[in-house]
Amino acid sequence: MQELLLEIAEAAAGSPDKGNVATYIPELAGVDPDQFGIAVALEDGRLLTAGDADVPFSIQSVSKVFALALALGRVGDQLWYRVGREPSGLSFDSILLLEREDGIPRNPFINAGALVTTDTYLAESNPREALGELLRFIRAAADDDSIHINERVAQSEIATGHRNFSLAHYLASHGNMRSAVDKVLGTYCHQCAIEMTCRQLALAGRFLIDADDMPPLVAVQRRRRINALMMTCGHYDGSGDFAFRVGLPGKSGVGGGILVISPGRASIAVWSPGLNRYGNSKLGTEAMETFAKRMGWSVFG
Ligand code: GLN
Repeated sequence: MQELLLEIAEAAAGSPDKGNVATYIPELAGVDPDQFGIAVALEDGRLLTAGDADVPFSIQSVSKVFALALALGRVGDQLWYRVGREPSGLSFDSILLLEREDGIPRNPFINAGALVTTDTYLAESNPREALGELLRFIRAAADDDSIHINERVAQSEIATGHRNFSLAHYLASHGNMRSAVDKVLGTYCHQCAIEMTCRQLALAGRFLIDADDMPPLVAVQRRRRINALMMTCGHYDGSGDFAFRVGLPGKSGVGGGILVISPGRASIAVWSPGLNRYGNSKLGTEAMETFAKRMGWSVFG
């Protein structure tokens, strides 16, 4: 497996088309596209890496997996009254279906749905406490207390996040926001600005694989359901393509990171900042396609 990872990192370095770095969050626009890292955290505790696996990046929407786990921990199945469980078939920041579907977002991984999960774990507490709880969850999962939020990235997104503000106001107009819009947006943007390396993210994802040496952070059924949502909705309107090509549940972010789960086997983090047309890491997706194929890993048998 180590040889395969080195081979994949080498192929990525030589790839002529690395996709395009997200520019709508100014602080992310300057990230060097010539970076690629991959880390595999195995069920038995071993960790293998290749490339820039120790370079921190902005996890962005990968944070929605941890936020969902936290929100479900707070309110359990009550969450599903406020957000759906179907793919949207639209981009991550689309507002289209919200009007037709009375302010209930399609799923917790598009931005509108993630704003609802943020509002849920925020609940009555203040943003600092809520983000502290989210960080504690991630740090416990990764067994690494150095994981932190990049304040400049958070402020950069707050200053330019007109689309997210409009989504939040739209949700509020339908009574689907409990806290003030500014408070939810501030919390959401800080959540997205969490910085991690591939090594840290792969370790943090182990709570979704049923690892022996780890206390279960979520119950079995919840873990399965989070994986199911990652498979069906984790890559927005590229989710079908990711399932087809990789065959494992995954969650992407516009920072170029992807967290992929091979249930019972491994948690994999891959990162390359250039994105494909769906807003998912281009080389990250290609790397995962090669990795899953060569390992013979798939949830489809
Ligand atoms: N923070 C980003 C946003 O809300 C997250 C989007 C993403 O990673 N797809 O636009």
